[in-house]
Amino acid sequence: MAARFIGAHMPTGKGLDHALRAGREIGCTAVQVFTSSPQQWKARQLSDEQIARFRAAREETELGPVFSHDSYLVNLCAPDAEVREKSVASLIGELRRCSALGLAGAVSHVGAHLGQGEDTGRRLAAENILRVLGETPDDAMLWMETTAGQGSALHWRFEHLAETLELCGGHRRIGVCLDTAHVFAAGYDVATPGGLEAVLEEFDRVIGLERLRAVHCNDSKKALGSRVDRHEHLGQGLIGEECFRALVNHPALESVPIVVETPEAETMHARNVRFLLDLRADG
Ligand SMILES: [Zn+2]
Ligand SMILES: [Zn+2]
Repeated sequence: MAARFIGAHMPTGKGLDHALRAGREIGCTAVQVFTSSPQQWKARQLSDEQIARFRAAREETELGPVFSHDSYLVNLCAPDAEVREKSVASLIGELRRCSALGLAGAVSHVGAHLGQGEDTGRRLAAENILRVLGETPDDAMLWMETTAGQGSALHWRFEHLAETLELCGGHRRIGVCLDTAHVFAAGYDVATPGGLEAVLEEFDRVIGLERLRAVHCNDSKKALGSRVDRHEHLGQGLIGEECFRALVNHPALESVPIVVETPEAETMHARNVRFLLDLRADG
């Protein structure tokens, strides 16, 4: 069976409820949003009215999984304790908003070790992930994203994610979000024929496919192994169409939401979502 839930990261400038309707209009059956400004520490408080409007839009649009992406500022393993504390508070706010809105999970980049080394980075990150989970509702899920490994970003190898998971005792509220552009830039060759299948097999062996809760579907402007994170429109980058065809027709991804985070959302998301929908074998 082909993927049932395909969509996009939708802009929320006109409101969270509007993002869902706009997503539906361009053919999305899954949507990712920011529940707060991704460039600011201070999060907006959601009013009861905003939550009610969002839930109404959710029902009206009949979307499948809707989930969020955390603030870009979050660094759970920052060397500066003050930044770590702000990050923990920010992520707690994110998961509380997810629960209030009824979202399936929050995707997080987790952090960058900034020279402390990856082991120290993962240890600090795991410690703080457990604090966040301990202070948030039981229905709020945290999905760690595979990164391109740009700079000192954690989690650019599947083994790294597996280790953080283990440091968290395999906590049931932790999932993983795989980003096609990130894994490619990190050195996983999803561009060759059969490449995506082999990479998903490796994911299954190292992490376990049952942890895969979402896919970010982006083409890459940068080369295999470059460790540089630059998204490109689908089919116009170095990954190419075959990977995306394999992705939306992979039996293990039938109920995993697949969303694009490509540039020029307002004008190009419709095209990129349509591109994915058209690659499905059963339309
Ligand atoms: Zn992503
Ligand atoms: Zn990226």
